[in-house]
Amino acid sequence: MTPTLPTIGHLIGGQTVPGGSRSADVFNPATGAAEKRVQLADKLTVEAAIANAQAAYPAWRATPPLKRARVMSNLKVLLEQHADELCALVTAEHGKVLADSLGELQRGIENVEYASYATELLKGEHSKNVGPNIDSWSEFQALGVTAGITPFNFPVMVPLWMWPMAVVCGNTFILKPSERDPSSALRVAELALQAGLPPGVLNVVNGDKEAVDTLLTDPRVKAISFVGSTPIAEYIYSTGCSHGKRVQALGGAKNHAVVMPDADIPNAVSALMGAAYGSCGERCMAIPLVVAVGDATADAVVAGLKTEIAKMKVGPGTQASCDMGPLVTKAHFEKVVGYVDQGVKEGATLVVDGRGIQIAGFEGGYYLGPCLFDNVKPGMVTYQEEIFGPVLGVVRVKTLQEAMDMIDAHEYGNGTCIFTRDGEAARYFSDNILVGMVGVNVPLPVPVAYHSFGGWKRSLFGDLHGYGPDAVRFYTKRKTITQRWPSAGVREGAVFSFPSSR
Ligand code: NAD
Repeated sequence: MTPTLPTIGHLIGGQTVPGGSRSADVFNPATGAAEKRVQLADKLTVEAAIANAQAAYPAWRATPPLKRARVMSNLKVLLEQHADELCALVTAEHGKVLADSLGELQRGIENVEYASYATELLKGEHSKNVGPNIDSWSEFQALGVTAGITPFNFPVMVPLWMWPMAVVCGNTFILKPSERDPSSALRVAELALQAGLPPGVLNVVNGDKEAVDTLLTDPRVKAISFVGSTPIAEYIYSTGCSHGKRVQALGGAKNHAVVMPDADIPNAVSALMGAAYGSCGERCMAIPLVVAVGDATADAVVAGLKTEIAKMKVGPGTQASCDMGPLVTKAHFEKVVGYVDQGVKEGATLVVDGRGIQIAGFEGGYYLGPCLFDNVKPGMVTYQEEIFGPVLGVVRVKTLQEAMDMIDAHEYGNGTCIFTRDGEAARYFSDNILVGMVGVNVPLPVPVAYHSFGGWKRSLFGDLHGYGPDAVRFYTKRKTITQRWPSAGVREGAVFSFPSSR
């Protein structure tokens, strides 16, 4: 522990506060140096955040939705004004190149923008004269205190998938960002206060399992959104549900890109480069597997990738000339290198080996160069497990159906894509594949903010997807009211049959 490092606390009731006797180093992955300490909230600290959120709820719920939404319009402007500062925080703690941090921030801002016109989706449904003098309507009421737990890989964007919509719907919120790169989410929460969000409506607690478990079990928390790895997503879902909460838990992924023999190979190769190695492969929509239909396709794809990889520049995310930064932590770096070692042992052909690279002046950073395997096969650990690093594997198959059967058999079903010029094949693929988000000649089919995001199979626990229209449903409860105002002087006798519109 280095006591002189700046300490990151929590944002509770509109105040930056300390809390918890434990803390953890926050590293700059480009240098490997610990640059900050983040406090890890204990149960009492999280309970203080819940109490603040609970206290802020009645007034916030009673605030007209348009006024709640207007805060998001203000926040959008502030986020744009503070883009450089926020991107610098993301790159300093996550490692991704600045252009990628900006892309992530932009997608987050689009969620804020969508939340700013969500009043349209809160209007409810109305039916007049469902019976004599009877009107009926459904409205969407807030849940109360809600919470979100987010991963390291999109530290500024994923929190913005959650809390802006939750608060526009009238809830209050507690965010628990990743302890590996907590600063940008906290800074955005400060900007939200500046944008006019009342204290206590959004609280941020930094921490680990102790903080998460408090949110999962406290009866005052009514709903939890989670994004992270599948084992933790499953734990969050089962624990939260068993404590009576509404839970959506988005998990891990292993996304396959199918390349058909008729595909525009140079375009497919360019698309695959970004999808496999962008953000060092640390994206839940990254493409770590190419399924090439036919040996000629596979040979062309491998040759194209090899040529493009040779042009890539790896280095600190702050250098504009770099295409790929370091991995997030030393532990994750070692895990990913372990997967490359494993792939070699399992008999996959290592065409490009990114292990052992050194970046002059940044010798302590967690750099792994792009790695490319050919002849990866289902059953290999490198095929089956989520590596979450710059490691792309090529699997050779004979037919589209063989590719699809393989994808369907995989435990994850987050994203997939097909590269082809054949509309019939593309339509058959997108219609039948057991995956939640599908691209046709689009490698990263991440839905825009006004659609919703979510995978199938073990990539999502829960029914509703993240952000977009599903988020309005997730953060509200439907209430249906049936109302009668009998005409003056009309008296009716008792009716004992079940009411119907007969
Ligand atoms: P992670 O599961 O390790 O951590 C996610 C969050 O859970 C963090 O806030 C962390 O503090 C908390 N957490 C970790 N261990 C916990 C435990 N034992 N008990 C309670 N809480 C715990 O994930 P990560 O490494 O931060 O992020 C990478 C993972 O997230 C990858 O698997 C990636 O695919 C996934 N991801 C999924 C999506 C999606 O939309 N499906 C998006 C982004 C990332």
